[in-house]
Amino acid sequence: MASLIEVSSQSYRMPAPDRPTPLLPLDPYLNAWATLRRWRRIALVSFCSLLPVAVLSEHTLGAWWIVIVLPAMAFMFVASGRVTWFRCPNCREFFGLNNPIWGPVSPMILVRHKCLHCGIRKGTPKVPS
Ligand SMILES: [Zn+2]
Repeated sequence: MASLIEVSSQSYRMPAPDRPTPLLPLDPYLNAWATLRRWRRIALVSFCSLLPVAVLSEHTLGAWWIVIVLPAMAFMFVASGRVTWFRCPNCREFFGLNNPIWGPVSPMILVRHKCLHCGIRKGTPKVPS
């Protein structure tokens, strides 16, 4: 008796072997670069989306727009602070600041790719010593 369902052996793909897929590298050095990339992305997205969120919430909520915009601004400052006060995994100094308190805090810190102190580029693999 012929089967009603035609089974093709070529359309079936063997499942990949079970491997742990780490979300972050286990090496603290590489983990630090991944943390910097993640917070930099979050800070850029929150910075770029603040104005559209403010305009949209003002149009939809009227006078209550501040209820949306203030937490969004707070989140943007937290994310920017995580990037600003990021410690370079190579020299342990602040990656983009000369002075941690009144150093040059500017949006350019979000696009800086080299450490101001040791000059290492963002994401550079660790050199074995
Ligand atoms: Zn450094």
